[in-house]
Amino acid sequence: MKSIWQRNILELIRRTSSDLPHDVTAALEKVRRKESASSPARWALDTILENVCLARERGAPLCQDTGTLLFDCRVPVGFDTLALSGAIRCAVRQATRLGYLRQNTIDTLTDKACAGNIGLGTPAIHLEYVRGSRVDIRLIMKGGGSENMSIQYSLPDSRLKAGRDWDGVCRCVLDAVRRAQGNGCAPGVLGIGVGGDRATGAELAKRQLLRRLSDHAADPGLARLEKQILAAANKSGIGPMGCGGRTTLLGVKIGAMSRLPASYFVSVSYMCWAFRRRGVALGTDGCIRRWMY
Ligand code: SF4
Repeated sequence: MKSIWQRNILELIRRTSSDLPHDVTAALEKVRRKESASSPARWALDTILENVCLARERGAPLCQDTGTLLFDCRVPVGFDTLALSGAIRCAVRQATRLGYLRQNTIDTLTDKACAGNIGLGTPAIHLEYVRGSRVDIRLIMKGGGSENMSIQYSLPDSRLKAGRDWDGVCRCVLDAVRRAQGNGCAPGVLGIGVGGDRATGAELAKRQLLRRLSDHAADPGLARLEKQILAAANKSGIGPMGCGGRTTLLGVKIGAMSRLPASYFVSVSYMCWAFRRRGVALGTDGCIRRWMY
């Protein structure tokens, strides 16, 4: 008999895999209208949106690559996180059996498939204690093609003429967009982390992808930079799937953290159009309070 936790997390996986969040679908529809009729960009976006509808209708995965599973959990102080991690793993195993997830995890030492998508470090589960009485579980499925386009810079960078300032950050991020050339399935969304060390900076970048497309960084300087990079990237002409056009990115989300005087990292986490992000708030009894996104 499945626990209520496993059942609700399984539903979270099903929804995330088959139905894009509303903000992403709305952004795709909006940029589609900006591309000229009968252009390759319009065709690419039409195909993407048709795919989105079909996946939703059929409850089928939005993409054949169901991605790295990144669970972000906030739990009340004293909550049993071992039990929660166990329920997440059981739900992932079951979601694989039911076809919500492709068999998508390889044991790096043996090159063999990990049964049920359970392996060392997979799924990735980030746990954080917070004050309150709710268990918030957010899930991102991050495709391998887009992850391959993610990159980290260490400033200063003489090749890019990028110093340790906002202009330097901007140069790095636009370089990442140019390098990708639409690979990693544009139009995408960039999560950017400025500062930290190599590991915490990359994590900060990835966590920006939990934000809605409509929000802006709380810091006015970062908010300006988000707008500036988005506008510049969309003037690059790279376009959806690299087909040319007006839409290379749907959004840019930047976070900053402290760093050592010796280091200045700019970490770019590249997310594809299949921006599968969902969340659920549960009571400590495992019952659903509300769906997020
Ligand atoms: S990058 Fe995204 S859209 Fe492209 S194949 Fe991977 S998961 Fe699918």
